[in-house]
Amino acid sequence: MPDKSITVTSPLLPSLDDFIPMLKDIWDRKWLTNNGHYHKELEKALAEYLGVEYISLFTNGTLPLITALQAMRITGEVITTPYSFVATTHSIWWNGLKPVFVDVDEKTGNIDPEKIEAAITPHTTAIMPVHVYGTPCNTARIQEIADIYGLKVIYDAAHAFGVRVNGESILKQGDMSTLSFHATKVYNTVEGGALICHDAATKKRIDYLKNFGFAGETTVVAPGINSKMDEIRAAYGLLNLKQVDDAIAKRKATAERYRAALKDVPGIRMLKDLEGVRHNYAYFPIFVDEKEYGMSRDTLYATLQEHDIYGRRYFYPLISTFSAYKGLESARPDNLPVAHKLADQVLCLPMFAGLDSESTDRIIDIVVNKK
Ligand SMILES: *Cc1c(COP(=O)(O)O)cnc(C)c1O
Repeated sequence: MPDKSITVTSPLLPSLDDFIPMLKDIWDRKWLTNNGHYHKELEKALAEYLGVEYISLFTNGTLPLITALQAMRITGEVITTPYSFVATTHSIWWNGLKPVFVDVDEKTGNIDPEKIEAAITPHTTAIMPVHVYGTPCNTARIQEIADIYGLKVIYDAAHAFGVRVNGESILKQGDMSTLSFHATKVYNTVEGGALICHDAATKKRIDYLKNFGFAGETTVVAPGINSKMDEIRAAYGLLNLKQVDDAIAKRKATAERYRAALKDVPGIRMLKDLEGVRHNYAYFPIFVDEKEYGMSRDTLYATLQEHDIYGRRYFYPLISTFSAYKGLESARPDNLPVAHKLADQVLCLPMFAGLDSESTDRIIDIVVNKK
């Protein structure tokens, strides 16, 4: 019954009728990439929507992480979290730096600020936290520690598109923040991403770095890379931006439906909305306590699959268990007990703007009845 299958996510797509005239426009202009018309428009529109001043578009959400570390000339060790998508740690490795894993807060899955100081060494120069599931990190406490030790803070905000705290963009925190516009995210440009910084000189350097270091026809000012967004995806992104608030509202309604139906199921824990936060409902993780629930997370995962419902275990396995990283001292499981617990319990239920209430109820029914 492929028509009844429900995947963990489904992309937000703009109307094809609206997209085709923009494609014609691109064909007429014959300017396909390198800071073109739609690229400029999208940068402006995103800065306005997100409430930030300086944003640079990228071809995906991994290159802004790599470029942020380059732009700030981070050296030595970078403190980060094992409870994320692999790209977070890979970006550190790709800069020839050493990732140092710190355990997470059980309530949110975000890095536990109280465990950061113990991981700082004379080689530490930066912290790379992640706003997991779009839940804001304890940015005040992280900044306090960074200020004491003179560390830079780069937030992987790949999950946090449109998230605001007391009316202010979460992207204003730290020295830089990155976004992913991958097809699976709340807002997508098919593939895409962005790097947010807080001053014009830094944006200029980022823009050099994402275009091979070119500062003019014959001038190369830095050893840059190529991570520019093209016109086709920028145009697509402009259209998707118009419907993202509606998409977030639909996600919120789905989250509320899940929460109301699952709140009294013993052994199922869910995230709560935080006071003063505009959440984006990027994911809907549940944490399964096998003893209390009477079934393991993996059995529930498999049971849903029997009904053609495909949840995902984000984030399992932990990054610290992958072969490239498991030899690190900080990757030892006894250093990361909370992250291991969450990775063993988590299951992200389907969550996307087009998920109707009938489908949500089908999923709820299986979680409640365990069959
Ligand atoms: C999606 C994601 C990325 C990578 O983004 P891409 O656009 O897929 O390169 C990085 N970090 C986190 C936390 C993500 O979820």
